[in-house]
Amino acid sequence: MWQVKGQEKAINLIDQALKNGLIAHSYLLTGPEHIGKMTLAKNMAQALNCEQSSPPCGECRSCLKIANSSHADVTIVSLSQEDDSEKTEIGIDRIRDICHSANMSPYEGKFRVFIIDKAELLSPAASNALLKTIEEPPPQIVFIFLTSDSSRLLPTIVSRCQVISLKLVPISQVEQFLTQTYKISPERSRLLAWLSRGRIGWAISAAEDESTIIKHQEGVKKLVDIINDNEEERLEAAADMAARFAKNRESVYSMLNDWLNFLRDLLLTGLGLSELVINVDFKAVLDSLSTKIGFSDLIESISETDRASVDLRHNVSPRLVVDNLFLNLPKRMVEV
Ligand SMILES: [Zn+2]
Repeated sequence: MWQVKGQEKAINLIDQALKNGLIAHSYLLTGPEHIGKMTLAKNMAQALNCEQSSPPCGECRSCLKIANSSHADVTIVSLSQEDDSEKTEIGIDRIRDICHSANMSPYEGKFRVFIIDKAELLSPAASNALLKTIEEPPPQIVFIFLTSDSSRLLPTIVSRCQVISLKLVPISQVEQFLTQTYKISPERSRLLAWLSRGRIGWAISAAEDESTIIKHQEGVKKLVDIINDNEEERLEAAADMAARFAKNRESVYSMLNDWLNFLRDLLLTGLGLSELVINVDFKAVLDSLSTKIGFSDLIESISETDRASVDLRHNVSPRLVVDNLFLNLPKRMVEV
Protein backbone atom coordinates (compact mmCIF):
# COMPACT_ATOMS: atom_id res chain seq x y z
CA MET A 1 0.00 0.00 0.00
CA TRP A 2 1.26 3.47 -0.84
CA GLN A 3 1.62 5.39 2.40
CA VAL A 4 2.03 8.90 1.04
CA LYS A 5 -1.08 11.02 1.47
CA GLY A 6 -2.38 13.58 -1.00
CA GLN A 7 0.13 12.78 -3.77
CA GLU A 8 -2.09 10.72 -6.07
CA LYS A 9 -0.62 12.15 -9.27
CA ALA A 10 2.94 11.20 -8.31
CA ILE A 11 1.85 7.74 -7.16
CA ASN A 12 -0.07 7.08 -10.39
CA LEU A 13 2.99 7.97 -12.41
CA ILE A 14 5.16 5.51 -10.48
CA ASP A 15 2.49 2.84 -10.42
CA GLN A 16 2.09 2.96 -14.20
CA ALA A 17 5.87 2.75 -14.70
CA LEU A 18 5.99 -0.33 -12.44
CA LYS A 19 3.08 -2.03 -14.23
CA ASN A 20 4.61 -1.37 -17.64
CA GLY A 21 8.13 -2.31 -16.59
CA LEU A 22 9.36 1.18 -17.50
CA ILE A 23 11.41 1.99 -14.43
CA ALA A 24 13.77 4.94 -14.80
CA HIS A 25 17.30 4.56 -13.45
CA SER A 26 17.20 7.88 -11.62
CA TYR A 27 14.33 9.76 -10.05
CA LEU A 28 14.33 13.20 -8.49
CA LEU A 29 11.57 13.79 -5.95
CA THR A 30 11.12 17.51 -5.34
CA GLY A 31 8.86 19.38 -2.94
CA PRO A 32 8.89 21.33 0.34
CA GLU A 33 10.27 19.84 3.57
CA HIS A 34 7.95 17.38 5.40
CA ILE A 35 5.81 16.73 2.34
CA GLY A 36 6.49 12.98 2.20
CA LYS A 37 9.51 12.64 -0.11
CA MET A 38 11.32 10.09 2.08
CA THR A 39 8.11 8.11 2.70
CA LEU A 40 7.49 7.96 -1.04
CA ALA A 41 11.12 7.01 -1.77
CA LYS A 42 10.97 4.12 0.72
CA ASN A 43 7.61 3.08 -0.75
CA MET A 44 9.20 3.07 -4.20
CA ALA A 45 12.04 0.88 -2.92
CA GLN A 46 9.41 -1.48 -1.48
CA ALA A 47 7.42 -1.50 -4.72
CA LEU A 48 10.58 -2.37 -6.69
CA ASN A 49 11.46 -5.25 -4.37
CA CYS A 50 8.03 -6.44 -3.22
CA GLU A 51 7.37 -10.20 -3.41
CA GLN A 52 3.59 -9.92 -3.83
CA SER A 53 1.46 -9.29 -6.92
CA SER A 54 0.31 -5.75 -6.04
CA PRO A 55 3.40 -3.89 -4.86
CA PRO A 56 4.12 -2.36 -2.44
CA CYS A 57 2.18 -4.78 -0.21
CA GLY A 58 3.87 -3.52 2.95
CA GLU A 59 3.69 -7.00 4.49
CA CYS A 60 6.07 -9.31 2.65
CA ARG A 61 9.60 -10.01 3.94
CA SER A 62 11.13 -7.43 1.55
CA CYS A 63 8.62 -4.66 2.32
CA LEU A 64 9.06 -5.19 6.07
CA LYS A 65 12.85 -5.17 5.86
CA ILE A 66 12.81 -1.93 3.86
CA ALA A 67 10.41 -0.36 6.37
CA ASN A 68 12.88 -1.33 9.14
CA SER A 69 15.88 -0.06 7.14
CA SER A 70 17.42 -3.54 7.22
CA HIS A 71 17.22 -4.55 3.56
CA ALA A 72 20.69 -5.17 2.12
CA ASP A 73 19.84 -3.64 -1.28
CA VAL A 74 18.32 -0.38 -0.09
CA THR A 75 20.73 2.33 1.03
CA ILE A 76 19.77 5.73 2.38
CA VAL A 77 22.39 8.47 2.20
CA SER A 78 21.51 11.28 4.53
CA LEU A 79 23.48 14.06 6.14
CA SER A 80 22.31 14.08 9.72
CA GLN A 81 23.14 17.46 11.19
CA GLU A 82 22.78 16.10 14.70
CA ASP A 83 25.44 13.45 14.19
CA ASP A 84 28.09 15.81 13.00
CA SER A 85 27.36 19.50 13.11
CA GLU A 86 30.61 20.36 11.33
CA LYS A 87 29.49 18.60 8.15
CA THR A 88 27.54 20.73 5.72
CA GLU A 89 27.79 18.58 2.62
CA ILE A 90 27.58 14.98 1.46
CA GLY A 91 31.18 14.24 0.59
CA ILE A 92 32.94 12.24 -2.04
CA ASP A 93 33.98 9.41 0.34
CA ARG A 94 30.40 8.41 1.06
CA ILE A 95 29.48 8.63 -2.62
CA ARG A 96 32.50 6.56 -3.73
CA ASP A 97 31.19 3.71 -1.58
CA ILE A 98 27.77 4.09 -3.20
CA CYS A 99 29.19 4.05 -6.73
CA HIS A 100 31.21 0.97 -5.85
CA SER A 101 28.22 -0.98 -4.51
CA ALA A 102 26.06 0.23 -7.43
CA ASN A 103 28.22 -1.99 -9.63
CA MET A 104 27.22 -5.12 -7.74
CA SER A 105 24.09 -7.18 -8.39
CA PRO A 106 21.26 -7.03 -5.87
CA TYR A 107 22.07 -9.21 -2.89
CA GLU A 108 18.63 -10.26 -1.69
CA GLY A 109 16.09 -8.31 -3.75
CA LYS A 110 15.30 -7.40 -7.37
CA PHE A 111 16.72 -3.87 -7.43
CA ARG A 112 19.48 -2.04 -5.61
CA VAL A 113 17.99 1.29 -4.57
CA PHE A 114 19.99 4.30 -3.39
CA ILE A 115 18.03 7.11 -1.77
CA ILE A 116 19.99 10.38 -1.52
CA ASP A 117 18.25 12.65 0.98
CA LYS A 118 18.81 16.44 0.75
CA ALA A 119 20.64 15.94 -2.54
CA GLU A 120 21.30 19.69 -2.75
CA LEU A 121 24.01 19.08 -0.13
CA LEU A 122 26.08 16.84 -2.43
CA SER A 123 29.55 18.35 -2.78
CA PRO A 124 30.65 19.19 -6.35
CA ALA A 125 33.10 16.26 -6.32
CA ALA A 126 30.40 13.90 -5.00
CA SER A 127 27.94 15.12 -7.66
CA ASN A 128 30.47 14.52 -10.42
CA ALA A 129 31.28 11.05 -9.16
CA LEU A 130 27.58 10.19 -9.10
CA LEU A 131 27.07 11.66 -12.52
CA LYS A 132 29.38 9.05 -14.04
CA THR A 133 27.34 6.25 -12.45
CA ILE A 134 23.95 7.61 -13.49
CA GLU A 135 25.13 8.32 -17.04
CA GLU A 136 25.82 4.65 -17.60
CA PRO A 137 23.73 2.98 -14.95
CA PRO A 138 24.28 -0.69 -14.23
CA PRO A 139 21.08 -2.72 -14.67
CA GLN A 140 18.78 -3.21 -11.65
CA ILE A 141 19.98 0.00 -10.04
CA VAL A 142 17.65 2.85 -9.14
CA PHE A 143 18.78 6.16 -7.70
CA ILE A 144 16.19 8.33 -5.95
CA PHE A 145 17.34 11.87 -5.20
CA LEU A 146 15.28 13.97 -2.77
CA THR A 147 15.43 17.74 -2.61
CA SER A 148 13.42 20.78 -1.63
CA ASP A 149 15.50 22.94 -3.97
CA SER A 150 16.41 21.36 -7.31
CA SER A 151 18.08 24.61 -8.47
CA ARG A 152 20.96 23.74 -6.11
CA LEU A 153 21.65 20.41 -7.84
CA LEU A 154 24.08 19.98 -10.69
CA PRO A 155 21.90 20.58 -13.82
CA THR A 156 23.47 17.54 -15.48
CA ILE A 157 22.17 15.36 -12.62
CA VAL A 158 18.67 16.86 -12.86
CA SER A 159 18.58 16.32 -16.61
CA ARG A 160 19.28 12.60 -16.17
CA CYS A 161 16.48 12.09 -13.68
CA GLN A 162 12.78 11.63 -14.07
CA VAL A 163 11.50 14.52 -11.98
CA ILE A 164 8.45 13.92 -9.78
CA SER A 165 7.14 16.98 -7.94
CA LEU A 166 5.28 16.54 -4.69
CA LYS A 167 2.81 19.33 -3.99
CA LEU A 168 1.50 20.89 -0.80
CA VAL A 169 -1.68 19.07 0.22
CA PRO A 170 -4.81 21.27 0.52
CA ILE A 171 -5.27 22.27 4.18
CA SER A 172 -8.84 20.93 4.23
CA GLN A 173 -7.51 17.53 3.11
CA VAL A 174 -4.83 17.52 5.84
CA GLU A 175 -7.51 18.40 8.41
CA GLN A 176 -9.81 15.64 7.19
CA PHE A 177 -6.97 13.09 7.25
CA LEU A 178 -5.98 14.02 10.82
CA THR A 179 -9.56 13.85 12.09
CA GLN A 180 -10.10 10.42 10.52
CA THR A 181 -6.75 8.94 11.51
CA TYR A 182 -6.02 10.22 15.00
CA LYS A 183 -8.04 10.49 18.17
CA ILE A 184 -7.73 14.25 18.40
CA SER A 185 -10.38 16.94 18.63
CA PRO A 186 -11.61 18.70 15.47
CA GLU A 187 -10.12 21.98 16.82
CA ARG A 188 -6.73 20.33 17.23
CA SER A 189 -6.90 18.85 13.71
CA ARG A 190 -7.73 22.25 12.32
CA LEU A 191 -4.85 23.94 14.16
CA LEU A 192 -2.29 21.33 13.07
CA ALA A 193 -3.57 21.42 9.48
CA TRP A 194 -3.18 25.20 9.38
CA LEU A 195 0.26 25.15 11.00
CA SER A 196 1.41 22.46 8.55
CA ARG A 197 0.57 24.76 5.61
CA GLY A 198 -0.06 21.58 3.60
CA ARG A 199 3.15 19.78 4.63
CA ILE A 200 1.37 16.62 5.63
CA GLY A 201 4.47 14.95 7.10
CA TRP A 202 4.75 17.78 9.60
CA ALA A 203 1.04 17.45 10.48
CA ILE A 204 1.41 13.69 11.03
CA SER A 205 4.45 14.11 13.24
CA ALA A 206 2.67 16.83 15.25
CA ALA A 207 -0.41 14.60 15.67
CA GLU A 208 1.72 11.66 16.83
CA ASP A 209 4.20 13.53 18.98
CA GLU A 210 3.17 16.38 21.25
CA SER A 211 6.77 17.67 21.36
CA THR A 212 6.54 18.91 17.75
CA ILE A 213 3.86 21.46 18.61
CA ILE A 214 5.49 22.34 21.95
CA LYS A 215 8.76 23.12 20.12
CA HIS A 216 6.84 25.28 17.67
CA GLN A 217 5.11 27.19 20.49
CA GLU A 218 8.39 27.69 22.38
CA GLY A 219 9.92 29.11 19.21
CA VAL A 220 7.12 31.63 18.79
CA LYS A 221 7.32 32.63 22.48
CA LYS A 222 11.05 33.24 22.09
CA LEU A 223 10.35 35.68 19.26
CA VAL A 224 7.74 37.50 21.37
CA ASP A 225 10.35 37.76 24.18
CA ILE A 226 12.93 39.22 21.80
CA ILE A 227 10.43 41.82 20.56
CA ASN A 228 10.18 42.98 24.18
CA ASP A 229 13.95 42.80 24.83
CA ASN A 230 16.41 45.70 24.83
CA GLU A 231 19.59 45.65 22.75
CA GLU A 232 21.76 44.01 25.40
CA GLU A 233 19.22 41.24 26.02
CA ARG A 234 18.88 40.69 22.27
CA LEU A 235 22.63 40.15 21.89
CA GLU A 236 22.60 37.68 24.78
CA ALA A 237 19.76 35.75 23.13
CA ALA A 238 21.66 35.89 19.82
CA ALA A 239 24.71 34.28 21.44
CA ASP A 240 22.47 31.44 22.68
CA MET A 241 21.01 30.98 19.21
CA ALA A 242 24.46 30.91 17.56
CA ALA A 243 25.57 28.23 20.08
CA ARG A 244 22.43 26.25 19.31
CA PHE A 245 23.13 26.51 15.59
CA ALA A 246 26.54 24.90 16.14
CA LYS A 247 24.83 21.93 17.83
CA ASN A 248 21.69 21.53 15.79
CA ARG A 249 21.29 23.48 12.57
CA GLU A 250 17.92 22.05 11.61
CA SER A 251 16.28 23.23 14.83
CA VAL A 252 17.40 26.81 14.06
CA TYR A 253 16.15 26.65 10.45
CA SER A 254 12.85 25.36 11.71
CA MET A 255 12.58 28.13 14.30
CA LEU A 256 13.36 30.82 11.72
CA ASN A 257 10.60 29.41 9.57
CA ASP A 258 8.18 29.63 12.52
CA TRP A 259 9.27 33.24 13.08
CA LEU A 260 8.69 34.12 9.46
CA ASN A 261 5.15 32.77 9.71
CA PHE A 262 4.50 34.63 12.95
CA LEU A 263 5.80 37.94 11.55
CA ARG A 264 3.58 37.49 8.48
CA ASP A 265 0.67 36.75 10.80
CA LEU A 266 1.37 39.98 12.70
CA LEU A 267 1.26 41.87 9.41
CA LEU A 268 -1.97 40.18 8.33
CA THR A 269 -3.56 40.87 11.72
CA GLY A 270 -2.52 44.53 11.51
CA LEU A 271 -4.14 44.70 8.06
CA GLY A 272 -7.39 43.28 9.44
CA LEU A 273 -6.91 39.91 7.72
CA SER A 274 -6.95 37.71 10.83
CA GLU A 275 -8.81 34.96 9.00
CA LEU A 276 -5.62 34.26 7.00
CA VAL A 277 -3.22 33.78 9.94
CA ILE A 278 -1.44 30.46 10.45
CA ASN A 279 -0.71 30.73 14.18
CA VAL A 280 -4.32 30.49 15.24
CA ASP A 281 -3.18 29.32 18.70
CA PHE A 282 -1.53 32.74 19.27
CA LYS A 283 -4.55 34.78 18.23
CA ALA A 284 -4.68 36.90 21.42
CA VAL A 285 -0.94 37.65 21.27
CA LEU A 286 -1.22 38.58 17.58
CA ASP A 287 -4.15 40.92 18.25
CA SER A 288 -2.31 42.70 21.05
CA LEU A 289 1.19 42.88 19.49
CA SER A 290 0.03 43.94 16.02
CA THR A 291 -1.10 47.30 17.39
CA LYS A 292 2.32 47.92 18.95
CA ILE A 293 4.63 47.35 16.00
CA GLY A 294 5.05 49.61 12.97
CA PHE A 295 4.33 48.22 9.49
CA SER A 296 7.68 49.20 8.02
CA ASP A 297 9.47 47.59 10.98
CA LEU A 298 7.51 44.38 10.38
CA ILE A 299 8.12 44.29 6.64
CA GLU A 300 11.83 44.86 7.16
CA SER A 301 12.10 42.13 9.77
CA ILE A 302 10.30 39.65 7.50
CA SER A 303 12.92 40.17 4.82
CA GLU A 304 15.75 40.10 7.43
CA THR A 305 14.49 36.76 8.80
CA ASP A 306 14.26 35.32 5.31
CA ARG A 307 17.75 36.56 4.49
CA ALA A 308 19.20 35.16 7.74
CA SER A 309 17.97 31.70 6.83
CA VAL A 310 19.51 31.93 3.34
CA ASP A 311 22.82 33.32 4.71
CA LEU A 312 23.11 30.54 7.29
CA ARG A 313 22.60 27.94 4.58
CA HIS A 314 25.34 29.63 2.56
CA ASN A 315 27.78 29.39 5.46
CA VAL A 316 27.97 33.07 6.37
CA SER A 317 29.34 33.38 9.95
CA PRO A 318 26.41 32.30 12.19
CA ARG A 319 27.27 34.81 14.93
CA LEU A 320 27.26 37.68 12.45
CA VAL A 321 23.97 36.59 10.86
CA VAL A 322 22.18 36.01 14.17
CA ASP A 323 23.44 39.25 15.82
CA ASN A 324 22.30 41.24 12.82
CA LEU A 325 18.92 39.54 12.72
CA PHE A 326 18.20 39.88 16.44
CA LEU A 327 19.00 43.60 16.39
CA ASN A 328 16.68 44.05 13.40
CA LEU A 329 13.68 42.12 14.70
CA PRO A 330 10.70 44.42 15.35
CA LYS A 331 10.68 46.65 18.38
CA ARG A 332 7.59 47.31 20.42
CA MET A 333 6.55 50.94 20.00
CA VAL A 334 6.74 53.01 23.16
CA GLU A 335 3.24 53.42 24.54
CA VAL A 336 2.08 56.98 25.11
ZN1 LIG B 1 5.69 -6.46 -0.37
